[in-house]
Amino acid sequence: MDVQEKIEKLRKEIELNSYLYYVLDEPKLEDYEYDNLFHELEKLESENPELITPDSPTQRVGGISEKFNQVQHKTRLYSLENSNSPEELKKWYERVLKEASPENLGQMSLFDTTPKDIRLAVELKIDGLAIALTYKKGVFVQGLTRGDGVVGEDITNNLKTIKAIPLKLFEPVDIEVRGEIYMPITSFEKLNEKQIELGQKTFANPRNAAAGTVRQLDPKITAQRDLSIFVYTGIINGEFKSHFETMSYLKKLGFRTNKVEIANGIDEAIKIINKLDEKRKTLDYATDGVVIKVDSLQLQNELGFTSRVPKWATAYKFPPEAVWTNLNDIKVQIGRTGMATPVAILEPVNLAGSVVSRASLYNFDEIKRLDIEINDRALIKKAAEIIPKVIKTEKTNNSKPFIMPENCPYCGEKLIDIEGEVAKYCPNNKTCPAQIKGRIEYFVSKYAMDIDGFGESIIEQLVNLGKVKDYSDLYYLTYEDFLELDLIKEKSANNLLNALGESKNTTLSRFINAVGIRLVGKESADILAKSFKSIDDIKNATLDEINSLEGIGEKMANNIYNFFHNEENLSTIKRALDAGIILDNPYTISENLKLKGQSFVITGTLENYSRDEAQSILKSLGAKTPNSVSKNTTYVIAGANPGSKIDKAKNLNIPILSEEEFMEIIK
Ligand code: NAD
Repeated sequence: MDVQEKIEKLRKEIELNSYLYYVLDEPKLEDYEYDNLFHELEKLESENPELITPDSPTQRVGGISEKFNQVQHKTRLYSLENSNSPEELKKWYERVLKEASPENLGQMSLFDTTPKDIRLAVELKIDGLAIALTYKKGVFVQGLTRGDGVVGEDITNNLKTIKAIPLKLFEPVDIEVRGEIYMPITSFEKLNEKQIELGQKTFANPRNAAAGTVRQLDPKITAQRDLSIFVYTGIINGEFKSHFETMSYLKKLGFRTNKVEIANGIDEAIKIINKLDEKRKTLDYATDGVVIKVDSLQLQNELGFTSRVPKWATAYKFPPEAVWTNLNDIKVQIGRTGMATPVAILEPVNLAGSVVSRASLYNFDEIKRLDIEINDRALIKKAAEIIPKVIKTEKTNNSKPFIMPENCPYCGEKLIDIEGEVAKYCPNNKTCPAQIKGRIEYFVSKYAMDIDGFGESIIEQLVNLGKVKDYSDLYYLTYEDFLELDLIKEKSANNLLNALGESKNTTLSRFINAVGIRLVGKESADILAKSFKSIDDIKNATLDEINSLEGIGEKMANNIYNFFHNEENLSTIKRALDAGIILDNPYTISENLKLKGQSFVITGTLENYSRDEAQSILKSLGAKTPNSVSKNTTYVIAGANPGSKIDKAKNLNIPILSEEEFMEIIK
């Protein structure tokens, strides 16, 4: 194959994978595999510049789908050059030093030829989807995807559902900002769990989940999922001297920004990168590198852009966190709802700083899709840097197909299919030890009852010894019961009992989440607690009432209704409550507030209260107290010497209260 043919082949492969990634949000390659193809093409083109064509992927950015209105960007959006090693970063820095004019390098005189260190802004590279937001007089008017950099997709309505995107800024400015939309890792994991339960396709990583979610035709779907944003630049004419100052201003306007660290020169920047590489492992969002930008805006202007990337910035990509190992076996794990999940048992291997010996295979369709067999070689990656996942496999001489067991490996019951779901289930929810353990682990977990100290091994022992058959049993355990467990001494027994005692004062929402109703998680439990005052009210609700709640689908409503009409569930709840669990419901307290939904504006001087006092009394009764009158104002309270607000209230026909009338209302 000659060079021209090689280049053509690479371009075709890159274009196909760009389309799968940018347009369909369904990548088939790992990012580093794609990057390798891209770098190979870049190398061949730089060795043979006469073969570069304007439509080569190396000269263009991203991709665009026809699902949405396409809108031309006012100012182009670019991609970033990638560096994979400190050496490549240094080469980039040397180019910057070479191209910068003496004034911008801060040289003292024409005779001083020593290059000065350049101030660099160093920040995490968020692995999400680039967007541009336009504000007119401080109001959000349009949001576009980066698309191909010249034209983006108009996804304004979807972006309006993301709470971290301000609809109104703190100052009435005309501005365009750019940022990265992402899905927090925990939300991504929950979304995938839900997709699996509903038998729908899972997302490869948080980036794809974010891109797929924000590019939905129905903004309601976007609103249901958890997305956030980090804004990383803004187009502000001439006012600021540095990227750092720009970012501080964007923060002041109300945008969510990430930390920007300043380095003097590339060596300092590399030290910060090493620190960020550690830090990112503790974050709840995926990052794929660090972006290094020249901080001076004047120098940025001078350096300019290539057809694809700014010359004043580069991205340092973290090395891929994937390793090959042997897949020794496939075991079936039974979860708290009885769902059977296959798990790969691996030859222990070090991956991104920890030893991995198991990886999730999600479901049996996934095993078929990836053609996974026992004794294969397997490429393991930390999905979103947390749960290890099998990405692909290669056959060995000993590879043999996995045969799905007919029966539950823990209790022997025959596994069954559930209509509309991909997974198989163990139907023995009463005595299957794996299900009991799963339910107890869920009950004590952070977002449920949040009971400290109940690790896997303690729960396993309590279940195996028959001391705990359901969550209510936890509250009847004695000091002596704990002392029977391996490795539990007086002090830990007391700690466990205390933790149980402390957990008794909880909220209705936590308890509903903890009892383990299928498909009901923290968010749905919150909806139920907001809609019903107590457990009894939920028990007495009709199926129609539950079904009509926003955010509760039909399937979930059926599960909730059936759960609260099952004698055994009700008696477990009663037993737990009898042990002294108290269910507070903060949502109903605010529901009962007498001025909830009303809005009061105060003008003039009150005799008996300062304005702050009056506003906090109103707020404590549930009212809003904005500073200006609008058509949404319920009452204007007028003290002595009222201002122009009173005229506005009269114009809008809003009732005006005297101080006495106000005192009557708050009595
Ligand atoms: P990129 O993701 O490498 O870098 C550019 C983007 O980084 C910007 O558009 C911006 O949105 C983002 N970014 C995040 N944090 C930032 C910050 N703090 N400051 C500035 N920008 C920040 O480039 P790209 O053109 O968006 O995509 C190319 C990458 O996409 C490739 O490196 C590859 O990994 C991946 N890709 C993968 C496949 C696949 O098949 N797996 C296909 C196509 C592309």
